[in-house]
Amino acid sequence: FFIALEGGDGAGKSTQVEALAEWIRAKGHEVVVTREPGATPVGKRLRSILLDVSSAGLSNRAEALLYAADRAEHVDSLVRPALERGAIVISDRYIDSSVAYQGAGRDLSPTEIARMSRWATSGLVPHLTVLLDVSPETARERFTEAPDRLESEPAEFHRRVRAGFLALAAADPGRYLVVDAGQAPETVTTVVRHRLDQMLP
Ligand code: C5P
Repeated sequence: FFIALEGGDGAGKSTQVEALAEWIRAKGHEVVVTREPGATPVGKRLRSILLDVSSAGLSNRAEALLYAADRAEHVDSLVRPALERGAIVISDRYIDSSVAYQGAGRDLSPTEIARMSRWATSGLVPHLTVLLDVSPETARERFTEAPDRLESEPAEFHRRVRAGFLALAAADPGRYLVVDAGQAPETVTTVVRHRLDQMLP
């Protein structure tokens, strides 16, 4: 069973991933927590290229391909093997992040990014995608550390990214849970647990 958590920077994804993993483990399942970009050895190197401030000016298409390469490696070497042995995989970001950031955020076609992502993953789609939706203003208040390359993008970029995520969820409502991530983290966890309770094997 494959769960993806998506949302803008500062939506609280990592907090939710940890809370959900703990809850699912307590039910007796094997849980694999993972993330994009950077879950594999090669992925870590790609992540540092992608997020380093020295990569400012990286071509949009090159950026999209590096994310796709990270994802292909992630799915082949980590996600599929875990799913095949029956584990529940929770990924902090997946395809939707590319469609939203590299597609809606930059000026690449979201449809083309989605098609490339399907190729990169041989069509692996999560059973449930949780979209933690938060306004860029609320998200920004949560940053405590130095911003990475993306977090320094203008507010307009983050608004396009948010709209990109919401459009994906609207197009396939049965596979998405959209949660207002401006709420208290415990409330968000409760909403997600409620949905998973009806779905988990
Ligand atoms: O979620 P995390 O903080 O690990 O993401 C690292 C950075 O990569 C974030 O600033 C996020 O905006 C960016 N990102 C991106 N495109 C993706 C995935 C992440 O621009 N497909």
